[in-house]
Amino acid sequence: MDTKLQQGTIVKGLSGFYYVACDGVTYECSLRGKNRKKKVKFLPGDKVLFQPAEDSIKGGAIEEILPRKNELLRPPVANLDQLLIQAAVADPQPDLRLIDRLTVFAQWNQIEPVICFNKCDLVSEAEQQKLLDIYRPSGIRVILCSTLTGQGIDEVRSCLYGKFTVLAGNSGVGKSSMMNAVDEQFQLQTGQISDKSKRGRHTTRHVEVYQMDGNTFVADTPGFSTLQLPDDIKREELSRLFPEFLSRLGECRFSTCLHNSEPDCAIKAALAAGEIPQSRYDNYLAFLEEVIQQERSY
Ligand code: GDP
Ligand code: ZN
Repeated sequence: MDTKLQQGTIVKGLSGFYYVACDGVTYECSLRGKNRKKKVKFLPGDKVLFQPAEDSIKGGAIEEILPRKNELLRPPVANLDQLLIQAAVADPQPDLRLIDRLTVFAQWNQIEPVICFNKCDLVSEAEQQKLLDIYRPSGIRVILCSTLTGQGIDEVRSCLYGKFTVLAGNSGVGKSSMMNAVDEQFQLQTGQISDKSKRGRHTTRHVEVYQMDGNTFVADTPGFSTLQLPDDIKREELSRLFPEFLSRLGECRFSTCLHNSEPDCAIKAALAAGEIPQSRYDNYLAFLEEVIQQERSY
């Protein structure tokens, strides 16, 4: 007798099995014949239809993969909604270049970037305000928080709710502490998160997705700190990945303006007027250089 197919989300693949989360239960699923033959590669985050096994409570077989909204190669995940870029306001100092690199990466992949500045207990409100000011013109959401005082934790929790989020950021900024603060069940998983990043670069990267509740998934990703910009970005496309540049792009004298050394550039005018923050512009120029280098090496 056929039981009804259920829809679930792949949380990891391991040794030929896929672990599928559905209604708070994780099923160890194999692939049905046609999928096995086609050598279909499923990714964490994939939505699938599966048949729960009759003879075991947590077994099953994947019947069908549902269309993907997006997919990333590194880390290999599908159907991402959000990139939560975590940094610390101090200890370590925020790496604005890395943060902007990750926002560009997210914008390029049509994933919503959210920046979370942790350890706000270590600096004054004025210092926190400066960080908000850098990102306000871009409209990118910034959350100020502290896992120590509880500041901003509710906001992080509600920002994750109902979405599939990948967590990125240097080690030591408080990613594990943050996950523990937003959901108690992560207490068990802290070890796993930090173990993975310590294992070193020779281990194959293995992404695991944690289910917070029915529809809320979070994956952490060691190694995001060395991210290269996507190699298919063209130099003239880069400025569109800085949202605060976007509305001004038609105002440069040259339609091909790269906002670098050209005269009558609306972006440089906005920089001079203090409407575009210096660090965002500097990082734009650094990425422009990188993108041009990448174009040359193809
Ligand atoms: P991860 O490497 O990003 O997972 O960072 P951890 O969660 O392991 O935290 C790194 C260090 O920062 C630990 O010593 C934490 O106790 C500390 N830490 C985490 N959150 C905060 C915070 O909000 N304020 C302060 N002052 N320290 C924090
Ligand atoms: Zn320009």
